[in-house]
Amino acid sequence: MNIHAHPTNILSFDVEHWHSATLLDGTVDSPVDRIETSTQIVLDVLRRYDVRATFFIVGKVAEQYPELVSRIADEGHEIASHGHTHTPLFDLSPDTFERELTMSSDAIQEACGHRPVGFRAPNFSVTRKTEWAFEVLESSDYRYDSSVFPMRTPMYGVSNAPLRPYHVPGNDPFRSYHVPGNAPFRPPLSAMPATDLVEYPLAVTDTPARLPVAGGFYARLLPIRLIEWGIRGLNRRGIPATIYFHPWEFNPAVRTPEPSLPKRFVSFHGIEGTAAKLERLLRTFEFGTIRDELDASEGNDLQTTATEEYA
Ligand SMILES: [Zn+2]
Repeated sequence: MNIHAHPTNILSFDVEHWHSATLLDGTVDSPVDRIETSTQIVLDVLRRYDVRATFFIVGKVAEQYPELVSRIADEGHEIASHGHTHTPLFDLSPDTFERELTMSSDAIQEACGHRPVGFRAPNFSVTRKTEWAFEVLESSDYRYDSSVFPMRTPMYGVSNAPLRPYHVPGNDPFRSYHVPGNAPFRPPLSAMPATDLVEYPLAVTDTPARLPVAGGFYARLLPIRLIEWGIRGLNRRGIPATIYFHPWEFNPAVRTPEPSLPKRFVSFHGIEGTAAKLERLLRTFEFGTIRDELDASEGNDLQTTATEEYA
């Protein structure tokens, strides 16, 4: 039985300087900041479609551009944390990560008046190596994380991590509720005490060999019809697709010849078509913020939908 025939999907933007993206960091001399013009392009599209999104903002950006953060919040979007210095968790310890969270929450509060409840790790760096992150997030009063890329890629990802939002089990944060082919599988409840922290994994296809349809580079590279097919497949099982972009991916002015060809390819390929692809997604699917989705599913709904999969 599928009680969520048309779940609201999640639209999110990671707000960072184009030149601090993991692949480009340190490759460009004296880069021009284009964060305000890039973000405004996105805000205009969202306003035209009357869609609210979650903006994961780097704390340093919030310090530098507080007016930009309050402008995003005033448009009705959710402000969440993308760390303070955009350092991947691979390069942090639990202590330095906790400091990053506090500094980014402070900067965001200073800019828009409230503390974030959600976090996305730079470069999706919550993996088995950094699973201590969940405990730090929970003790830092975060309600959700959206950093797990549920398939292995060269830089990040966790193979076979759950596809649907789930309460993170304290003893095994990537315990998979997903069994290829939907074979019945029900771990004993005692084996998976859940924490209060909810994970919103990035969208990959619900197929035996998972395909990344989450947005960003993948949305620029892949035909839009493949992305739509992937989202539909998740929605058919009641799973909201969590999609991400960066504002700079909507601004071809960020193109620069300095990084190596492979880095330029991953960073800039298809950048002229990103806005048209997003608009098509906005016409085709319903999108909202993670916080609204979390509030709507508060209580035992998440538990129920997770349990449904074993039925
Ligand atoms: Zn980032």
